[in-house]
Amino acid sequence: MKPMSQTKLDEIKSTASAQFKAATSSKSLYDLKVQFLGKSGALTEVMKEMANLPKEEKPLFGKKVNEIKNFLEQVYVEAEEALKKAEMNERLATEELDLTLPAYVRQAGSEHPVYKVIEEIFTIMARLGYSVRTGPLIEKDYYNFEALNIPADHPARDMQDTFFIDQHHVLRTHTSPIQIHSLENEKPPLRIIGTGPVFRCDSDISHLPNFHQIEGMCVDQKVSMADLKGTISFFVREFFGPGLKTRFRPSFFPFTEPSAEVDCSCPICKGKGCSLCKHTGWIEIGGCGLINPKVFYNAKISYPEWQGFAFGFGIERMGIIKYGIDDIRLFPENDVRFVRQFLS
Ligand SMILES: [Zn+2]
Repeated sequence: MKPMSQTKLDEIKSTASAQFKAATSSKSLYDLKVQFLGKSGALTEVMKEMANLPKEEKPLFGKKVNEIKNFLEQVYVEAEEALKKAEMNERLATEELDLTLPAYVRQAGSEHPVYKVIEEIFTIMARLGYSVRTGPLIEKDYYNFEALNIPADHPARDMQDTFFIDQHHVLRTHTSPIQIHSLENEKPPLRIIGTGPVFRCDSDISHLPNFHQIEGMCVDQKVSMADLKGTISFFVREFFGPGLKTRFRPSFFPFTEPSAEVDCSCPICKGKGCSLCKHTGWIEIGGCGLINPKVFYNAKISYPEWQGFAFGFGIERMGIIKYGIDDIRLFPENDVRFVRQFLS
């Protein structure tokens, strides 16, 4: 072997191993490995000189190169391990991890109280054979008013009380149009529950321009006020709790005859008197009545062969009474602190 190549090899060995050991980061150590042992590294360059050596010296030279390569790879592995250990110690010394901190808690959503009330009403009424119907939010004037026997001079048809889309279309002011769609498209006997948002030009502490109603209709042969009172009394006890009484006060609605307002004994004070019931012991929950024959006539249902009753409640009002909520405006605000109180 020529002394020249031998010297170069020894030089690479000592320089590389010294620099490997002196490297201060994994990154710089790797760069050194590429510099000495890589495809275009110093050792590869020396290997190229092997071609110029006499044939008998080549094996010895090759053996020597391999020894140095193995030696340097070993030095590299040891230096790498030492650096990683040092870097880990450095991180442990400088980074602080407080294991006593509370874990991050994912915020769970909850059902809105309006839909909680609707679901509960569905469940109760399903036990009496009622099934759910929906209808469009934008209604023809005919379905919202005329078919329900609401005459042209009725206050609800005033621009002040109703959102008119154009001359013939309104944002529905109640869920009762669902009854007409059902009467037109289905054959009696019928037991249906209709629900959803309704819209009125109204907004104060106890009224919203957009609130929810739930509507029930029963059409069958020989339906009387007794059936209506029995159904609503059953519903009130199931929804608000056992022992509550209902009372029916004569009233007027264009689409029912006779009509009644429904009160139930106050679920909070059980009839003794409190601020929710304004110390009367009774709370108004909605309206009801026997379906006006004119509504059957409009929907082309044969009367008195078929008779029926209908009732409607405000969902937010049911929620206010059941959960003791003091401001109806909390419902549409969607403040999570309010909504999360109804987590079930
Ligand atoms: Zn009360």
